[in-house]
Amino acid sequence: MATLSGKATLSRYMDLPQGERVQVLYTWIDGTGEGLRSKTKTLETEPKSASDCPIWNFDGSSTGQSSGDDSDVYLHPVALFRDPFRRGNNKIVLCETLTKDHQPTESNKRRSCAETMRKVVDQHPWFGIEQEYALYDGDGYPLGWPKKGYPGPQGPYYCGVGTGKVYGRDVVEAHYRCCLFAGVKIAGTNAEVMPSQWEFQVGPCEGIDMGDHLWVARYILHRVAEDFGIVVSLDPKPIPGDWNGSGAHCNFSTEVMRKEGGINHIHTAIKKLEKCHADHIIMYDPKGGKDNERRLTGHHETSSIHDFSYGVANRGASIRIPRQVDEEGKGYFEDRRPASNCDPYSVTERLVKTVCLS
Ligand code: ADP
Ligand code: MN
Ligand code: MN
Ligand code: MN
Repeated sequence: MATLSGKATLSRYMDLPQGERVQVLYTWIDGTGEGLRSKTKTLETEPKSASDCPIWNFDGSSTGQSSGDDSDVYLHPVALFRDPFRRGNNKIVLCETLTKDHQPTESNKRRSCAETMRKVVDQHPWFGIEQEYALYDGDGYPLGWPKKGYPGPQGPYYCGVGTGKVYGRDVVEAHYRCCLFAGVKIAGTNAEVMPSQWEFQVGPCEGIDMGDHLWVARYILHRVAEDFGIVVSLDPKPIPGDWNGSGAHCNFSTEVMRKEGGINHIHTAIKKLEKCHADHIIMYDPKGGKDNERRLTGHHETSSIHDFSYGVANRGASIRIPRQVDEEGKGYFEDRRPASNCDPYSVTERLVKTVCLS
């Protein structure tokens, strides 16, 4: 008797025509400020923008976002993408979470970020975030690492090729294609320094789009990995010791920085950043700097969490000016401090407040 298994069985059902109605997967950031949740709603017609999706709600007492006796939390759709899992006209819609008084919940950093971005629309702030992450197997062990002991020291893995040098490429390929299909502004990807560690970049995105696109790219990554029985870790220092941590370098520019003579504006921005190093560190991981303490040691291509520094092509500095930008005299700079598990809304808002509004 011929049997089908797992995903092959599922595909028979997913091939069924679904009629006129569409499935919209509502996704949101949970009470941890790091986790994502989702649930699905049928709409009678295909939504063309987030505003075509009705406001909805969920049980916040199960996500750390409200108490059980008063559990409803509102979902306000804010950014619409194509769904690469259900395909067709089905959608993913990213949502803000609002309390019963229609105030942002504690982990909803988007409201205030969007407000700040509205103040600086004329400056056209662009961002590009490099999302680093590690892949684990189902046992919570880095993918492909020996169950006893460690793989060979770092060196051959960054942008590597070949068995024993790369682990989990299928997840990366699938994620990249899903992002392209969904309409997420993915810019590229590469294998990272620690074995089974990877990076993808999203950008350049203007204003609030940076946070929206990165969060949806993260959702897609977790979903793809789930299909492979693999776990995605955004921990900023997955393995203690002589192994690179994971960051979320934030590349940033305004219109004047991108134009002739822009390098002067970049230096002005860096001087402002120097004055508020501590304020930035607080916003650059979900635990107010505690997570980044493990990562920003001054080793493994990081700067010390306690000091502010910058330099051309310097990957041991808080801020790096790319060599090409220095030579061309215009472009952008890279803030290397944000941790892999940062909230991009908090990071981009803080950057704009310091650089554009002070
Ligand atoms: P790195 O050399 O640090 O590894 P990457 O190539 O990984 O850099 O990432 C660079 C990021 O910078 C990309 O996400 C890209 O979209 C973004 N970027 C490029 N130009 C600009 C710009 N003018 N302003 C903001 N971000 C930019
Ligand atoms: Mn990079
Ligand atoms: Mn990197
Ligand atoms: Mn970088």
